[in-house]
Amino acid sequence: MQRVTVLGSTGSIGVSTLDVLGRHPEKYEVYALTANRSAAQLLDQVRQFQPQFAVLRDESVAVEFQQQVSALGVRTQVLAGEAGLLEVAAGADLVMAAIVGAAGLMPTLAAVEAGRKVLLANKESLVMAGRLFMEAVDRSGAQLLPIDSEHNAIFQCLPPVAASGLAPLGVRRILLTGSGGPFRTRSRDELQSVTPDEACAHPNWSMGRKISVDSASMMNKGLELIEACWLFHCAPSAIEVVVHPQSVIHSMVEYVDGSVLAQLGNPDMRTPIAHALAWPQRIASGVSSLDLIAQARLDFEAPDEQRFPCLRLAREAAEAGGSASAVLNAANEVAVSAFLEKRLAFAAIPDIIGDIMERVSFFEPHSLDEVQDADAQARRLTEEVIARHTRQ
Ligand code: NAD
Ligand code: MG
Repeated sequence: MQRVTVLGSTGSIGVSTLDVLGRHPEKYEVYALTANRSAAQLLDQVRQFQPQFAVLRDESVAVEFQQQVSALGVRTQVLAGEAGLLEVAAGADLVMAAIVGAAGLMPTLAAVEAGRKVLLANKESLVMAGRLFMEAVDRSGAQLLPIDSEHNAIFQCLPPVAASGLAPLGVRRILLTGSGGPFRTRSRDELQSVTPDEACAHPNWSMGRKISVDSASMMNKGLELIEACWLFHCAPSAIEVVVHPQSVIHSMVEYVDGSVLAQLGNPDMRTPIAHALAWPQRIASGVSSLDLIAQARLDFEAPDEQRFPCLRLAREAAEAGGSASAVLNAANEVAVSAFLEKRLAFAAIPDIIGDIMERVSFFEPHSLDEVQDADAQARRLTEEVIARHTRQ
């Protein structure tokens, strides 16, 4: 019996994780569930899974929540704030890291530092602090398993990767696939006026709003490129992005002999979640069989960095190294929030991020405090630039 903490249990990945866990009660016991402030949804999950702990990040709603939990007659103990997240991240055997954005960094690292089996959905933590994060994995002996469907696919197409990287394994390159998002066929002009709801209507995947906007701008693919460099110990030049609108192939690995291995499946995150939960075994996920005859065709095209400059910005950040990708991530999070709050046009997201990347000088962070400083400074600057931009 493995005890599982689901960080971000009320989100899209969190709900899919609970769906898979609920299919295997003999293997997994839910130890802790956490949410930012979605108390009603968390209460339903507590009723169903009766975990030892439930954590609300927002302390102002935690006291009332404890009363609601006690009224259920459930013995779940309610914790609050980041301290609560850190405690339940370190206390389980297995941790699903599915908080969105920079807020996921410290809880995910707490699980890593405690040497747990860590299922990584929170790509932003690797983007922000890749070097320190991977050093912590090495030090603690934590087992890191990628949940992002592309990275999970690549992981499935590779033998174990050591710090010496991909070359000794005979890998020529990684083909990182992406659907191209809801605006794949829109012209630059049409991109000016798109709304948050249009950006969040992804053709193949149902996801949280922040990652949906990232998919629409293709920043998601950029963040994934950085994520892949850290996970698989390779340079950005070893990774080629391929647009594949059907999202049936989830990524590929090409070897020096010309072999290309791909992982395919229906676009449903329960597949990578079940894969990582049970690894190296396999368990059922509830995902239906892939019907290749009905699918009939698989298309591929090159990404268009003119219409989607975020991909180029992320590649530049990956090549610059050091704090560059933390700055990129911070500027993106602030710009995406402004877009979702209708304070910024969609097409301005890459302009703002590009502007910030030019203004900030990068350095090699030697501690998490330095990463947090780079993040905070970039956020302040991005807010200022957006305020100026929207006054124009
Ligand atoms: P989501 O917005 O649906 O859910 C986010 C979860 O994090 C919620 O439970 C929310 O309560 C919690 N949360 C939000 N802000 C928080 C804060 N400040 N402190 C603590 N908790 C907070 O997001 P999602 O789509 O499930 O994505 C989660 C992560 O997984 C992201 O990093 C995303 O990039 C990654 N991911 C998601 C998908 C997908 O299909 N949804 C695929 C690949 C990777
Ligand atoms: Mg992905």
